[in-house]
Amino acid sequence: MDQPAGSPASGEPEQQALFGWAEAAPEQAPHQAFRDSPQARRMLDVREVYAEPAALDSPRGQQIMARLPGVRVTEVDSHWRIPSLHGNDGNIGRWVRIKTETLVLGVKHNLTTRPNGRSADWIAPGPSNGCAMACAYCYVPRRKGFANPITLFTNIEAIVAHVRRHVRAQGPKTEPNQCDPEAWVYDIGENGDCSVDALVCDNTADLIAAFRGLPTAKASFATKFVNPDLLALDPQGRTRVRFSVMPGDDARLLDIRTSPVDERIAAAADFLDAGYEVHFNLSPVVLRPGWQRDWADLLTHLDDVLPARVKEQAAAEIIMLTHNESLHEVNLGWHPRAEEVLWQPEAQETKRSQNGSLNVRYAQDVKRESLRRIQQLLATHAPWLRVRYAF
Ligand code: SF4
Repeated sequence: MDQPAGSPASGEPEQQALFGWAEAAPEQAPHQAFRDSPQARRMLDVREVYAEPAALDSPRGQQIMARLPGVRVTEVDSHWRIPSLHGNDGNIGRWVRIKTETLVLGVKHNLTTRPNGRSADWIAPGPSNGCAMACAYCYVPRRKGFANPITLFTNIEAIVAHVRRHVRAQGPKTEPNQCDPEAWVYDIGENGDCSVDALVCDNTADLIAAFRGLPTAKASFATKFVNPDLLALDPQGRTRVRFSVMPGDDARLLDIRTSPVDERIAAAADFLDAGYEVHFNLSPVVLRPGWQRDWADLLTHLDDVLPARVKEQAAAEIIMLTHNESLHEVNLGWHPRAEEVLWQPEAQETKRSQNGSLNVRYAQDVKRESLRRIQQLLATHAPWLRVRYAF
């Protein structure tokens, strides 16, 4: 039988519930949505919306705008082409402010599910593109030029219907694989952060609800933001949340605007108890003096604070840093200190990507040795943390 966190009989490490989930049942306390809180507004305080007319007219678009009274709206032909936003290099200095204050609404026309086979079996058409957080290594802006605020796709019914059809067409999963032993895993957050999207719209909630009714599949998304509103979405085990973690010094330099790593770790038990599967992304691993010591400390911390019930079901992805020359140039304009650790030409090699930009990753031998070392650290400090995928 499962013991409550910190129960003396459980033998588990003490971990305070971060949000008092157990005490916050609706009949006991009027529930104020986190998204209406001052903390949420520090993340997203929308002052300006760019929208395709069809997105504005849609039920989801109208629902989003109803929560943003008085906000200035500029109609655009395409969410991809907003010259004053994406094509304006003067925006680099406002990189973070635009993420906080600007929202784009669009319609996603290309509804395709792509095979993956590494972190997830499939990449579902995402409900958003762009992010209010500002991780310096984030690959999402690679096609957006000089600004990368959240674009929300308002045709969520079409996205959900597409995913349902795709899941049903697969039938049951008959062979276990690294993604999951039983369920087809669909990544629903490839180009954004579903936890932050949930501050401004119900796309994340709709996808979680859809997967609740798909017993052969599971949604999965990585996040760096703890949004307690997600605890009320009742995923019934059909959504995997992957909290990304990295040593605190790296996160303070690189994970701009995210929830502190300790908060993400402290939220794990609450999310598990609310019906999520909880995994961890050890990502990105950034090589710099002292990285091994700091990852050892982080893994020790995970071992110290996570209750047994989280450890029993946890698994991890390890993802070494990749970077991009264009993003390097953008970052030099707003956060040059980050580039001191991200841009390490002597340890990295370049590769031209399909869209013509130059990607940068650790040289094969450096990467192989670093992955071997981090797996050793895991075996020593957090042997319960099964590695699902290392790249
Ligand atoms: S949280 Fe994810 S999507 Fe958002 S900026 Fe960071 S890496 Fe990019």
